[in-house]
Amino acid sequence: MGWKTLDDMDLAGKRVLTRVDINVPVKDGKVTDATRIERIVPTIRDILGRGGKPILIAHFGRPKGKVVLEMSLRVTLPALEKALGASVAFIETLEAAEAMTDEQAGADVLLLENIRFHPGEEANDPAFAARLAKLGDVYCNDAFSAAHRAHASTEGLAHLLPACAGRLMQAELEALEAALGNPARPVMAVVGGAKVSTKLDLLGNLVGKVDMLVIGGGMANTFLAAQGIDVGKSLCEHDMAGTAREIMAKATTAGCEIILPEDVVVAREFAAGAPSETVPATECPVDAMILDAGPLSVARIATALEAAKTLIWNGPLGAFEIAPFDAATNAAAQKAAALTRAGSLVSVAGGGDTVAALNQAGAAEDFTYISTAGGAFLEWMEGKTLPGVAALES
Ligand code: ADP
Ligand code: MG
Repeated sequence: MGWKTLDDMDLAGKRVLTRVDINVPVKDGKVTDATRIERIVPTIRDILGRGGKPILIAHFGRPKGKVVLEMSLRVTLPALEKALGASVAFIETLEAAEAMTDEQAGADVLLLENIRFHPGEEANDPAFAARLAKLGDVYCNDAFSAAHRAHASTEGLAHLLPACAGRLMQAELEALEAALGNPARPVMAVVGGAKVSTKLDLLGNLVGKVDMLVIGGGMANTFLAAQGIDVGKSLCEHDMAGTAREIMAKATTAGCEIILPEDVVVAREFAAGAPSETVPATECPVDAMILDAGPLSVARIATALEAAKTLIWNGPLGAFEIAPFDAATNAAAQKAAALTRAGSLVSVAGGGDTVAALNQAGAAEDFTYISTAGGAFLEWMEGKTLPGVAALES
């Protein structure tokens, strides 16, 4: 792979500018979920272990180039120190960082204030990037989730200092490479969720790369409707019918098998305990909506999973937030988890609702890799070049 890792760098006595994502949820001045903080710990420990001094650069919220005190990263300090088991000094301004003597820099780790307080960050201003570069000797990017943005701290810096990927970035890149870069075949993709319109580029890219594409969730309704099937009151983008037909044609040309639901679970309302029934996908009652895939569809997906060597998944197969419309998502997730555990499948998944659904199914632990990167993960699935990753490539 074309990027350096911490293993390739000499860090002894070096100041390591480390871009991290600690954009954590906060309520009443406290971090409510420290997952993102915990995930950067291996990288920071590794840098410390190699004799380097981590100087953390991160953003928090969207202050749009101005100092917004409610968006200060200071709020993350206690959670950061706790997760690291090391002292962290908070550096409020770049001037303070520039004036700092070695003695003042005595803490194990330094954390710079919200980098988006500076307009040069999001503008990827070369002068701003150069100013940041002076604060360090080496650049380490551990923020895959911010890699789809070409900002000074995610892209510009990589050109100005010896650059490498942090452990989290490395794990993400290796997992993604195994799933779409150079995957074991056959490769199967599962794409679900609400709408086709939000996942057009993703579907377009996948049909050219994978051997089997399962389409589920609300977007499957659009594909069914595009084939002339009446989907009643289901969520459906009728104006996307032409696009859906184009995607199916592209799949045929590329030799990608598209798997749509054969049977579906329908209800008259989307509410817990609403009476539901299973019908063939061609027979949705005019006054009902499709809220999940049925058992025949699940069996078809299970067979495909057994044949597959690699799985990439984004989007739930049904309206999983409310039982019983989580059944198909749960069953497919548990099947993928079991095959992964047995060693016959490499499984990678990402997306906000997808991660929630896989957790709810109790399947997330067994997946090979779960990406929490959101937008960056989706752009990667769309086949786009991520500027933060491209800049690391040597
Ligand atoms: P992700 O966040 O993982 O990218 P999406 O946001 O695209 O996933 O899709 C998740 C949403 O899709 C969920 O809110 C789910 O309820 C909805 N959804 C799935 N299937 C259906 C359906 N048949 N009808 C309506 N909504 C659905
Ligand atoms: Mg979502």
